[in-house]
Amino acid sequence: MAKKGLLIVYTGNGKGKTTAALGLAYRMLGHKKRVSMIQFIKGSWKYGEMESVKRYADLLDFHVMGKGFIFKSEDQEADVKAAREAWELAEQTIAANRHQLVILDELTYLIKFKMVPEDRIIKALTEKPEMMHVVVTGRDASERLIELADLVTEMREIKHPFHSGIKAQKGIEF
Ligand code: ATP
Ligand code: MG
Repeated sequence: MAKKGLLIVYTGNGKGKTTAALGLAYRMLGHKKRVSMIQFIKGSWKYGEMESVKRYADLLDFHVMGKGFIFKSEDQEADVKAAREAWELAEQTIAANRHQLVILDELTYLIKFKMVPEDRIIKALTEKPEMMHVVVTGRDASERLIELADLVTEMREIKHPFHSGIKAQKGIEF
């Protein structure tokens, strides 16, 4: 069967979605392929990946957008504006076709909380360049996103140390 760029979705309530996407990025970089990762939601931790990416600056574009929006939401209008701007960058990145892999980390929340119209997101993903691989992560992936995707994996929580009172640890959670 012919090759094609895949739309990959990592969803579910278990840990490993963003980590899996980073694993693919690492694999692509080993083949000297260009990668763009856009993180739509991030907390205030100093994430290890933000440091690692500096070593691959020639091949890897890394954008952290909308720091912690949605969960703070003291100012919802500002949150929606930040989400829209982040999505516009994603649209431009896909259309520009300069990367073999584009990771849209936690994009599902923009759909879930109706911060960007789902039609618009589905359209951009439907029209993505043929050979470009796109990864979407986040809980509660919408039905339309799952329908459109070529590969969907659900991370399902069986155990998480959080429930035994173990706090987030450097190198594992961030
Ligand atoms: P990771 O970034 O570790 O791959 P993820 O992308 O699958 O996790 P998110 O839903 O983005 O998970 O949540 C990010 C943070 O929440 C991570 O620190 C992760 O360890 C934590 N987390 C993920 N799943 C659970 C869970 N089931 N219970 C408690 N904390 C969780
Ligand atoms: Mg994640």
